[in-house]
Amino acid sequence: MCLHIDKELPEKWHEECGVFGVVAPGFEVARLTYFGLFALQHRGQESAGIVVQTDKHVTCHKDMGLVTQAFNEKLLSMMHGYAAIGHVRYSTTGSSIVRNAQPIEAKGKRHIFLAHNGNLVNSTALRNKYENKGISFSSTTDSEIMAEIIADSDTGNVEKAIIECMEVARGAFSMVIMAEGRIFALRDPHGIRPLCLGKLNNSGWVVASETCALDIVGADFFRDVAPGELVEITATEVKTIHCVESPRCATCIFEFIYFARPDSYLLDRCLYRVRESMGQILAREAPADADVVISVPDSGTPAAIGYAKESGIPFQEGLIKNRYIGRTFIQPDQRIRAMGIKMKLNPLRDTIEGKRIVIVDDSIVRGTTSSKIIQLLRDSGAKEVHMRVSSPPVKNSCFYGIDTATASDLIANSRTVEQIREIIKPDTLKYLSIDGLVEATGLTPDNFCLACFNNDYPISIPRQLDLTKMALENHDEVALAKAT
Ligand code: SF4
Repeated sequence: MCLHIDKELPEKWHEECGVFGVVAPGFEVARLTYFGLFALQHRGQESAGIVVQTDKHVTCHKDMGLVTQAFNEKLLSMMHGYAAIGHVRYSTTGSSIVRNAQPIEAKGKRHIFLAHNGNLVNSTALRNKYENKGISFSSTTDSEIMAEIIADSDTGNVEKAIIECMEVARGAFSMVIMAEGRIFALRDPHGIRPLCLGKLNNSGWVVASETCALDIVGADFFRDVAPGELVEITATEVKTIHCVESPRCATCIFEFIYFARPDSYLLDRCLYRVRESMGQILAREAPADADVVISVPDSGTPAAIGYAKESGIPFQEGLIKNRYIGRTFIQPDQRIRAMGIKMKLNPLRDTIEGKRIVIVDDSIVRGTTSSKIIQLLRDSGAKEVHMRVSSPPVKNSCFYGIDTATASDLIANSRTVEQIREIIKPDTLKYLSIDGLVEATGLTPDNFCLACFNNDYPISIPRQLDLTKMALENHDEVALAKAT
């Protein structure tokens, strides 16, 4: 995906994509992919696509919207084959058109389809280099650049073409590729975005962004694709084709905090338990005198339950979420805009009135929603509001595949915790420490990317991308033109 230049800014950071692939002769592979993508819907709601391989040809369908909007029974029943790959995409850009939906198709010396989760940091340099070699690109998106490099490579076979692409690409890429009737899966050398393998009875293999997609199709978790590993998936086995040397694993810690589903497993950890543990450690690091613990649903709930367990303060539901608000939600007009946050979250006055409240959220990005929620609690009669956040202050932008605000849009970028508290107005505000966050995973810091908290980017960011961010922050069109 390319860097976004629009902005109606999101309240939370978002994953941009989910990928899925299956090889299972005798199964309805399009239907399995549909359900796999359905389980990954939280990773992308803008478009969905599935490509199916038969002995003789491929069938591809992509459309805008949720998986359930892009596909129907009739379409799926026409997509027969022995293998399939699929993709869900999230974007807030103006380029919300079906041409940008994936899997991306590229035809050159070979015909491939590619589904990508992540973001390259050297796409401009790659584009220039390969244009000079005579490869033409129709866009600047990094997914298309990688697809064209593989499709047009002069190297002898498709494996070598994919390895060439892995060796020149820098950044985050978890990908599934369909080429010459075969399915490949690969992960960048830092393993920034997740990718796992599952076994389907004894009759096939599945690859997916998260384990929750294995569960829904009845596949058993086998293992993660290792950082830097390229595998070929056949009906009978997963074969390692190549390993690019991995400097170190740097899986995105935000997958543990918020992005991935709580029922997924990552690095052998149950994400629900890790989030609960974040809440427990937060309660030890930042206790509060209070009557009740509530969460910002749904993503803050496991940590709030952990906070309650550790502190002995009872957990209760205090905000009820309208589960039917999606990206197609019709915005209220000016006259009813005052309803604001209440369209999404309605306070349960019975829990809140006259009480000292601890409210737990998983992260604060811009802070606008947090301040509305705190006001909502005060309007509902809360005596005190103590905000606890189960991750550290988000200070830096992400360059590895997240729908990220520019650094100046991050409330913690240039403010102390006390300055943030003065803006969003709880009685007290405390965050989980970086050490506490890592402790909750049961792993060591060298397993993770923590750059949005500590500015230590595991893959260095070219000056060009920094310039683009600065241009976005300053709304400086000249700098932006130079940077892009
Ligand atoms: S910068 Fe933050 S959001 Fe981006 S990959 Fe690193 S930990 Fe994840």
